Amino acid sequence: MTPPSIPTMHALRRHVERNHERATQRLRHLVDHDTPSFDPDATSGAITLLLEWCEAQGATVDTIDAGGAHADHLRARWPATHEPRNHLLILTHVDTVWPGDETTRRPFQHDGDRATGPGIFDMKTGIIQSLEAIDAVLALQPLEHTTLTLLVTTDEEVGSPTSRDLIEREASTADVVLVTEPSSDAALKSSRKGVGMYRVSAHGRSAHAGLEPQAGRSAILEIARQIPLIDALNDYAVGTTVTVGMIAGGSARNVVAERCHVDVDVRTMTPEETRRVHEALLNLRAMGEDVTLDVEGGTNRPVMERTEVTAQLYARAQAIADHLDEPLSETAVGGGSDGNFTAALGRPTLDGLGAVGGGAHALHEWIDVRRSLIQRTSLLAGLLLDLSATPLQESA
Ligand SMILES: [Zn+2]
Repeated sequence: MTPPSIPTMHALRRHVERNHERATQRLRHLVDHDTPSFDPDATSGAITLLLEWCEAQGATVDTIDAGGAHADHLRARWPATHEPRNHLLILTHVDTVWPGDETTRRPFQHDGDRATGPGIFDMKTGIIQSLEAIDAVLALQPLEHTTLTLLVTTDEEVGSPTSRDLIEREASTADVVLVTEPSSDAALKSSRKGVGMYRVSAHGRSAHAGLEPQAGRSAILEIARQIPLIDALNDYAVGTTVTVGMIAGGSARNVVAERCHVDVDVRTMTPEETRRVHEALLNLRAMGEDVTLDVEGGTNRPVMERTEVTAQLYARAQAIADHLDEPLSETAVGGGSDGNFTAALGRPTLDGLGAVGGGAHALHEWIDVRRSLIQRTSLLAGLLLDLSATPLQESA
C-alpha cells in the first residue's frame, strides 16, 4: 500500500484551494442557521440547505424521519460507478448545544485565520469539510468500486436517540467510518471513553418539619448518604470517572423531602470498567428505613477502543498528512461521539478528522479557517482516495 502520491495530494489541495471561497460561504450559511437538537423547525432549515448542496454535488439524497422531536436526518450517497466493492461512511451531526436564537447574538464571524460562531467547531466545519473533500475526490476521478455515504444527523448532542439505528445500519455495510467531529488540539481521536448516564432516585415520606418531622423519611438524606458511595466508584488510574453532575429534591424548606434524585455521568476506557460501574450502581440499596431507591440508566455510548485496525487507519492518515506537510498526532479523549457506536460494531473508525480550533460547547468556540478548510479538508480527501484505491483489509 502506498498513499496517494505527492502530485496527487497537491492536485487535491489545489482543487480545495480553488473552492475555498465557496467553502467559507457555505460555512457562514450553515453556522448562521440555528440548529438546536430539540428544535425540528429551525434545524430542518439547515437540513434543506445541506440537501441542496449534496444534490448539486451529484448525490442521491434521502431524509430519514426522526419522529418529530428532532429534524429529519440526512443521508447522501455517491454510488460507485461500477460494481461496488467498498463502502466509506462519513459521520456528521448538524445539531448544536446552543438555543434557537444564538446566532442573533453571535453570528458567524471571520477575522483573518479565525472564525467563530455557534457550533462552528462542533461540528459544522466538519460537515463543510466532508462536502468539499468529496467534491475534490470526485473532480479528480470517478470512484469505480467505492460508494461514499455522508450521514448528517440531528440529535447527536442529546445522545442520538433517533439516529443510532440509522448510524448502525449504515455502519454495518461500511468498510471504514470516518468521523469529522472536531480534532482535539489538532490531534485525531483514535479512542474515546464510553459514556453512561444514570439517575439515582430516592422516595421517602413527606412530613411537616415543625409538627412531626419524625414521621417523615427524608429522600434528601438518603441521597446524601448515597453520594459518597457513588463517588467511590471513581478510578482515575484506569481512566474511570463517575460524576454526580446534578441533584434535585424536596418541595419546600419546611417539608421533609419525599423525593430527591441525582444524575450521574460515567466515563470508562474498557468494557470491564463499564460493567463494574454499571453493576455497582444497580446494586445501590436504600440505607434509610421506609425509603426506596431506584436506579435507572445505562451505557449511552460504548467504549471506542484503539484496535490494530484503528492503528492502520491512523498510519494511512499520517502518511497523507506528511505529503501535505500537515502535522498530525492522535489522542484518546473522554467525550463520546457517534463513532463509539460504529467502533463497538467492529467497524474501523477514525474520529476527530474535522476542524482544528477549540472551545467545543463554549462561548469562545473557534476554528482556524485555513488549517481546517484547506489542510484538513485535503487530508480527508486524500484519505477517501487512498481508502478507495486500497481498501483497508487489503492493506493489512
Ligand atoms: Zn459533535
